[in-house]
Amino acid sequence: MTLLTVDDLVVEHRTPGRPLVRAVAGASLTVAAGEVVGLVGESGCGKSTLARAVCGLNPAASGTITFDGHPVTPLGLRRRDRALAGIQMVFQDPYASLNPRRRVGAQIADGLRTAGDTVTAPADLLERVGLPRDFAGRHPHEFSGGQRQRIAIARALAARPTMLIGDEPISALDASAQAQVARLMRDLAVESGAGLLFISHDLSVVRLIADRIAVMYLGKIVEVGRTAEVWADPRHPYTKALLGAIPAPDGAGVLPAELSGDVPDPADPPPGCRFHPRCPVAMDVCREREPAFGPVACWLHEPA
Ligand code: SF4
Ligand code: MG
Repeated sequence: MTLLTVDDLVVEHRTPGRPLVRAVAGASLTVAAGEVVGLVGESGCGKSTLARAVCGLNPAASGTITFDGHPVTPLGLRRRDRALAGIQMVFQDPYASLNPRRRVGAQIADGLRTAGDTVTAPADLLERVGLPRDFAGRHPHEFSGGQRQRIAIARALAARPTMLIGDEPISALDASAQAQVARLMRDLAVESGAGLLFISHDLSVVRLIADRIAVMYLGKIVEVGRTAEVWADPRHPYTKALLGAIPAPDGAGVLPAELSGDVPDPADPPPGCRFHPRCPVAMDVCREREPAFGPVACWLHEPA
């Protein structure tokens, strides 16, 4: 069952005296119940803005967002509706959802109250995320980044989410904690039948946990596919670059892992294919016409 549908979403940032920025420029995406979708791309590609639009933290300029059969655009879900709908977010900085001055157990109890759960104890949730029960009586600042992120996940789970959104939840963690926390989010989401939208710029971690991967570049989803297939046979040149290897323009050999140049200014996106200034295999058509089709938005993969 499809839980979340994002269709042709546009989100704009307006700052007085500055040009309009289309952070999300017509992006489409679905997440089913019990499914893990990894949303990947360099920073500044609009991944967080898309997630924030789903949560009602950024209004949509156009396009639609549907959650559990209900349209939620243009404003997305308000805080209260979000809690009722069961969308929980886990952020890069656990302190975005945890209060440093309150005991961990009390904060998890807030989530349990949201869900009307009078049976589960905060310590039960700590156990589910792999932490000792007696952490409930301590404060978030007493823990490592990885432990704090587990506590933030326990708090999100307490509210019985139908959908978890992780916005770079592992980027601030040590390499050793990254895969563990990513796997934990996956296991808990799948176990409870919730959907998980997992945002990361690290494709190698997303590969470990996602059923499908969506690759975002400069406000657009440029490739979507089953994780194993994207990993084995990435088709969009940007996906190939993210995976660390770009075929040379003459088709011979493999270029070094680095992708040259930065993401262009979203206030002034390149015409045609937005990736063309950095694409090693760009053609004339790429500079003029936008490849506005899926699941691979690239003129090399134009549908018949
Ligand atoms: Fe490269 Fe052209 Fe494909 Fe864009 S459409 S990714 S420029 S080949
Ligand atoms: Mg971000």
